[in-house]
Amino acid sequence: MAGRLTTWLRREGGESAASDGDEIARLRAARDAAEAANEAKTRFLASVAHEIRSPLNAIYGYAQLLERGDAKDTLAAARVIRRSAEHLAHLVEGLLDISQVEGGAMKLSREAIRFPEFLDQLIAMLDLQAQAKGLALVLERPERLPEFVHADPKRLRQVLINLATNAIKFTDHGTVTLKVEYRNELATFTVIDTGIGIAPEDAQRIFAPFERVGGPAAERPGVGLGLAITQALVHIMGGDIRVESRPGEGSRFTVRLMLSQPLSPPSEPAPEAGAVTGYLGRERWVLLIDDDPAHLAMVRSLLEPLGFQVRTASDGDSALALAAQVQPDLVLCDVMLAGENGWDIARQLRRRHGASLRIVMLSGEAPDSGNPPADGPANDTFVMKPFDFTVLLDVIAGQLGVEWVRAAGLPRGTAPAEAAMRLPVTVAPQAAAHCAEIERLVRIGHVRAIESEIDALAALAPEAGPLAERMRAALDRFDLKELARLAQAGVSDAA
Ligand code: ADP
Repeated sequence: MAGRLTTWLRREGGESAASDGDEIARLRAARDAAEAANEAKTRFLASVAHEIRSPLNAIYGYAQLLERGDAKDTLAAARVIRRSAEHLAHLVEGLLDISQVEGGAMKLSREAIRFPEFLDQLIAMLDLQAQAKGLALVLERPERLPEFVHADPKRLRQVLINLATNAIKFTDHGTVTLKVEYRNELATFTVIDTGIGIAPEDAQRIFAPFERVGGPAAERPGVGLGLAITQALVHIMGGDIRVESRPGEGSRFTVRLMLSQPLSPPSEPAPEAGAVTGYLGRERWVLLIDDDPAHLAMVRSLLEPLGFQVRTASDGDSALALAAQVQPDLVLCDVMLAGENGWDIARQLRRRHGASLRIVMLSGEAPDSGNPPADGPANDTFVMKPFDFTVLLDVIAGQLGVEWVRAAGLPRGTAPAEAAMRLPVTVAPQAAAHCAEIERLVRIGHVRAIESEIDALAALAPEAGPLAERMRAALDRFDLKELARLAQAGVSDAA
């Protein structure tokens, strides 16, 4: 990571490197620059460690309380853990974004986006945040905007959301406005707030990583990477960003980007698909290799309810033995196992099982930072942790060539996973009682009691297993809505 930050560091250290033409002075300046860069690196790493420590402490503390059964409100504890994990995930994502931009590795997509809809969706996403703070959120746009423009929607959204989220965060009364202008393919986005403002001496500093200025600002949540990433993204999109602000009155962040218009309207995208509930075709076997039992349990609870046969291994030897035994279709292998290199395991699997075995590497580090084997890639693809479930499912579908069955794609009750949940008449009354109790417990958020009710449901009969499994998976994700839905389905199925 530190190596990839060289540009930033060079920039920080580089200022003192002004040459005066004299050899000794040049060497001295080079030494000063190197020292300044080193100091900047140390400061940066200290900030990263600091930023990681507090969410990590919260996770550690609450997890211990839950383990000891001492947490008074288990749902609240779970929420703190989830939020802290999200914060860490944002931090990691932010650091990776920065290193990618700085290392010149970030690739922008160029898509024709529906410009007015894109802006409406953005406002809809931010509206709840603004409402929660009693702020008015206004989109100020000319009546005529091009229907389509070329942009990387993910990155453009990230820039505008960063600025608008800051505007909301640093404003306690009044209005946040997103003003959009478009002329001769030049789009100007101005995010205007009536918040605490920024002192003139801080106006440039805030764009550096981890810089958070002023008393009141530093008290609000955040990691201080948003503007650094925003500025870096705007620059790689070929645009510019500037800020004008008066303390106590508010701020205006202006981003200018060239967004060209497509010559002809693009073809309509496919409508959005429903949630995956299973797949078509023969049963597929998946081998998960990871030394983290929590990770194994999580991926297992994602894949098993979809109808995959899942086996898990926590080291290379047992993985190779299991693979020989079950001949999996797909392997999901962590890159860094305790004392072992995932790439080595992948290479051995490839050697023994040939190209028909699909291998997906999972890692918390970017592929180029790992140790891909020198004798050609043993893996078929790579997924970064933490991953969105839909991303992993997309990769799996691509590797196995399976076609998903989706919730919205079939009439109610006929999806394979739902059908498998049907309870036999003999156990129905007891199952209904457990499901009703689970429904009640979900409303009060009593996680431990929910767990034991699910266990009791599973113990009723093997047929209750799939429903209990899906409930466990929903509970693992703290998806209480889904849990309530499953419990309700259990009650009415049994009735
Ligand atoms: P974060 O918001 O996570 O602290 P950012 O990089 O997005 O990190 O912002 C850096 C700092 O810039 C903030 O901590 C705050 O001090 C200042 N800042 C950013 N946007 C605003 C704004 N709209 N009004 C006042 N201060 C702001």
